[in-house]
Amino acid sequence: MATPPPANRAVIVLIDGARVDVLRDLLRRGDLPNLARWVIEPGGLRTGTTVFPSTTGVAYIPFLFGRYPGSVDIPGIRWLDRRGAGGGWREQWRAARSYCGVQGGWLNTDIVATPSIFDLVPESIAICTPLTRGLQAGGNRCALRRVVLGSVAHYAGTYPALDRAVAQAWLDAADEPWRFLFVVFPGVDGISHLKDPLHAAVLESYRLVDCAIGAFVARVRKRGRELPAFFVVSDHGMTVMREHTDPAVLLERDGVPTLRHPVHVWRRGARVATMVSGNASVQLYFDPRSARERSLTESEIPEAILERLLALPAVRLAACRADSARGIVVRTQNARARLMESAGLVRYEPETGDPLGLGGYLELDDRDLLSRTRETDVPDAPRQLLQLFRSPRAGDLALAAAPGADFRGPWEIPEHRAGHGSLIAEHMEVPIAASVTLPETAIRTVDLMPTILERLDVALPSGVALDGVPFSKLAAVTEHLVR
Ligand SMILES: [Zn+2]
Repeated sequence: MATPPPANRAVIVLIDGARVDVLRDLLRRGDLPNLARWVIEPGGLRTGTTVFPSTTGVAYIPFLFGRYPGSVDIPGIRWLDRRGAGGGWREQWRAARSYCGVQGGWLNTDIVATPSIFDLVPESIAICTPLTRGLQAGGNRCALRRVVLGSVAHYAGTYPALDRAVAQAWLDAADEPWRFLFVVFPGVDGISHLKDPLHAAVLESYRLVDCAIGAFVARVRKRGRELPAFFVVSDHGMTVMREHTDPAVLLERDGVPTLRHPVHVWRRGARVATMVSGNASVQLYFDPRSARERSLTESEIPEAILERLLALPAVRLAACRADSARGIVVRTQNARARLMESAGLVRYEPETGDPLGLGGYLELDDRDLLSRTRETDVPDAPRQLLQLFRSPRAGDLALAAAPGADFRGPWEIPEHRAGHGSLIAEHMEVPIAASVTLPETAIRTVDLMPTILERLDVALPSGVALDGVPFSKLAAVTEHLVR
């Protein structure tokens, strides 16, 4: 393979679960000198937003496919295949999809046919990623270690060993003729779940990534090559969980048989299925054994169950498809609004109260609405709910947890002391650092792939459209507004 032009290369470093406030704090303390020197100094750091559900794997889709998860028919890290759930025992197990265990690899095949950045940039190397679709032979590094060390680390907390293996694999790849590198450090997320997002061991994981950036830069410079464009990002935030409210446990207590992971996927006579992502979001599917493929709309959802769930302090909001088959209904215990999209404008119509805290009726284009929602406790909620329900596989009802609460019982092994998955700012806001110019306007993780393709001078195949917008176009919009 010929050596590509030097400036025509890009690296995404994904610090899984990195919180933007923690990252900024460590930068202020001078603890991340390499990130500061090689990435933020030439470019910048912004607080961006991720996707809903804000959970590992699902929230990698924007980076690697440039699409929202709902656009590629992946509604969560767990979801129910409605038709399969009505089949025999084998189909029932398959239908209760969970990318957290042995079905993990199915994420690659469940995503609808659309090119990944690996397809579009064949000279790609990825290190420690669950999403590998489109990688050429030999392009998937640390795959075995990710599975073996990753599952040990999940129980024993030995994430530093995995992160060090990633750093080494990254360094080993430096001299190869790649054009795009995708490097995932799982330690911050993994240790935060087990301990606390501010635990000393978590902060050490950020520093480990910084050292890895330093080592990689030194290697590239030693070879006399120009540095690639760096993008250092996270897939979601993270909060301490004070309360585990498991809707499945509550519903069972109310006499409603509930299909759920890990061992109740064959629940007899199940009337509801609860599919948890993150663990601070959950999607409910009613009558899971009916094999009915059509999803329910608001008035078809059992009112008693909906009211019961809305009354839980753990629930920030619920959302479902509107009866008119147009738009989404957003509910809290005392508020109700409708979200619709047409002719490039998103409409927010509060009917009672103001469930998204936007101050009343709005009709704005996507980017203006994104900016408006950044001031609320649920940033980008309108777009994220619309994209989720674009997926026919999404549940009949989706719940997003309030700060400090999640939707899995304390029975989970190991217990998650911290988590993510919800629409709240603490989970949706992520750091987006880049060594290239960043726009002043609000940005999303889905904007990275178009930005990188533009930099690498890679055109999209005809008929393929991405959900994100390259930074250059967003900057132009900002300049236009300033003028
Ligand atoms: Zn993650």
